[in-house]
Amino acid sequence: MSDADIAVVGGGIIGCLVAHEITRRDPRPRVALLDRDVVASGASRRSAGLHFPRGATERVRRLSTHSQAAYARLAAEDPTLPIHPLPLHMLAADPAHIERTYLTTARPTRAEQVPGGLVAVPPGTGVWTGQGCQYADVGALTEALATTLRPRLALREATRVTSVEPGPRDVTLHLSTGGTLTASRVVLAPGPWLADPAWEPLVRPLGARVKKIVALHVDRAPTEDDGVIVFEDEDAFLLPLRHRGHWLFSYTCQEWDVDPDTLDRGLSAADLTQAHACLSRYAPALAERTTSGRVFCDAYSPTCEPIVRTLDDGGRVVFAGAAGGSGYRLAPALAAETADLLHIAPEGTGHPDQPGPTGRRTAA
Ligand SMILES: Cc1cc2nc3c(=O)[nH]c(=O)nc-3n(C[C@H](O)[C@H](O)[C@H](O)COP(=O)(O)OP(=O)(O)OC[C@H]3O[C@@H](n4cnc5c(N)ncnc54)[C@H](O)[C@@H]3O)c2cc1C
Repeated sequence: MSDADIAVVGGGIIGCLVAHEITRRDPRPRVALLDRDVVASGASRRSAGLHFPRGATERVRRLSTHSQAAYARLAAEDPTLPIHPLPLHMLAADPAHIERTYLTTARPTRAEQVPGGLVAVPPGTGVWTGQGCQYADVGALTEALATTLRPRLALREATRVTSVEPGPRDVTLHLSTGGTLTASRVVLAPGPWLADPAWEPLVRPLGARVKKIVALHVDRAPTEDDGVIVFEDEDAFLLPLRHRGHWLFSYTCQEWDVDPDTLDRGLSAADLTQAHACLSRYAPALAERTTSGRVFCDAYSPTCEPIVRTLDDGGRVVFAGAAGGSGYRLAPALAAETADLLHIAPEGTGHPDQPGPTGRRTAA
């Protein structure tokens, strides 16, 4: 018999929510969750944690809808979780972009200005308000999930997976501890560690790449009424991180094919110049108050849609990730898609061939 029915490799927000989804749907499978470090040590710890109800494609809109409901349910079940509803403001030149991108549940509504006088709206740019936005301290949320999971699974931290060998009956994971773990099915949720030699040959055909992500911390305290301001034409946003007492400015950095282990986590002069140039177009006073920030990276798929897919002929190894800077906001839906692929019956149906909550059938 295998050591575990399902082994989840990677204890970030996606891996933890995959384990959470599996054990919530069915308490019977023996689940192991492994991380080479402590949980929430990767991209999840550095995440800005913004969830907004939008998506550029039909699938992402579906994932966003599912995730929004799932986070609302988690927050209702445990109000101490660090998930905070937030007012939403969008700036865009093209009204059709707002209509195309935002879910109807976001109820985009034209507005005159962004409240608070923080940003100047450039000529030719419209302002909208919306609903259904929240942000989380993703590191703390991931740790809280791991705490609730601990009695329900085998949590093995500081245990690096050094090779993944799919076989006819199960998958053998070789571990940094010198031992092995066999599992009937394995979920790889490696965040930006796509090139880990343990699974690189399995993951390479996905064509996913790793991009640097930079966000600046703005040295100004948000008020309870402040909301997120999304600069649609820049793929950037200003987020009031109330729990940390400052704003965060996220913009799009185009530095590709970085390695999470060797990436310089310090802000570079080029990072600051690019971010200041972008922020100055809307809020020059804030740009002057940005001297610190966070630098890490994330995995992106060729289509910019997240990937949930089997990697081996036997269908025993499933990849979940490459969410392209949206791994927090889409994680619950990716977890549901993963559980569907693993044939874990959606809660309440009792039948593995019923359509799952994301529309997929659980039987392959
Ligand atoms: C600065 C920044 C801002 C962001 N802002 C947002 C945002 O506002 N909204 C949003 O939705 N998303 C955002 N993201 C993206 C989001 O944070 C990621 O998509 C998400 O955290 C990915 O989660 P994950 O679980 O896949 O990866 P990770 O959190 O990186 O977890 C992967 C885990 O795998 C483990 N691991 C790696 N190799 C091995 C091995 N060999 N053996 C065992 N374990 C291993 C690592 O230790 C790590 O804990 C942001 C990302 C960054 C960097």
